[in-house]
Amino acid sequence: MSVLMHGIGMTSKRTRERLLKRLREKGISNEQVLDVMRVVPRHLFVDEALASRAYDDTALPIGYGQTISQPWVVARMTEALIEGGCPESVLEIGTGSGYQAAILGCLVDQVYTLERIRALAALARERMRRFGLKNVHVRYGDGFRGWAAHGPFQAILLTAAPAGVPDELFQQLADGGRLIAPVGSRDVQELIRVTRRGDRLEREVLDRVVFVPMLGGTQ
Ligand code: SAH
Repeated sequence: MSVLMHGIGMTSKRTRERLLKRLREKGISNEQVLDVMRVVPRHLFVDEALASRAYDDTALPIGYGQTISQPWVVARMTEALIEGGCPESVLEIGTGSGYQAAILGCLVDQVYTLERIRALAALARERMRRFGLKNVHVRYGDGFRGWAAHGPFQAILLTAAPAGVPDELFQQLADGGRLIAPVGSRDVQELIRVTRRGDRLEREVLDRVVFVPMLGGTQ
C-alpha cells in the first residue's frame, strides 16, 4: 500500500475526493473499500492521455477493444466480495489493466488473476511489480479453465461477462466461498453472487451492469 501512495500527487486530492463522494452517493458504504479506492492511483492504470479522466466514474479504453471498469462497479464488486469478512485467496478472471486486482491486493492475502490477451497480462504484471504488490499473481491464460493449482479459492471474481458461469470455476470455489460475476448477453448483464454451501449453490442478483464479454482461448 505504501508504494502505491507515492502515486498520489499527479492528480489533485480534490478530484479523488469528488469520486469518493460520488461512490458514496451511489450507495457504496464499506469504509475499507472506500479507503482503498482513495489510495490506489487509477490514473496509473490507464494511458497517460486518459489520466485526466481517471477519477471520473466511467469505464475507459485500455486498448485491444477492452476497458478498465467503472470505479463504481469495482467498488460494488469488491464490497460484495468482502462482505462478512475478507477472503484469504481470490481468483480474478479478466486482469485487464490490473486495477481491480490491485484493489483486491490491498485487501486480501493472495490474488490470482488471469488475462487472455498477452500484452495486457504483461503490462499488468509490470504494474504490480512497480507498485510492490507481491501478493498479486498475474497469468496469461484462458479464464474459462480457472487456475486449479492455487484453488480452491474463497472468492472468485469475473470481470468479463459469460453467458453462464463455467462449471470448472464453481469446482474451484471453496465451501462457503463466493463467486461474483456479470452474467448475460453482450449489451446487458446481471451481477450475481453465488455462495457455495456444500453441494448447494445459493444465487443472488445484485445489480444490472455492462461488461465486455468473456471470450474463450488466448490472444
Ligand atoms: N478487471 C479489469 C477489467 C478488464 S475488462 C480492470 O480492472 O481493468 C475484462 C478483461 O477480461 C479484458 O482484458 C479481457 O481480455 C479479459 N477476458 C475476457 N475473457 C477472458 C477469459 N476467458 N480469460 C481471461 N481473461 C478474459
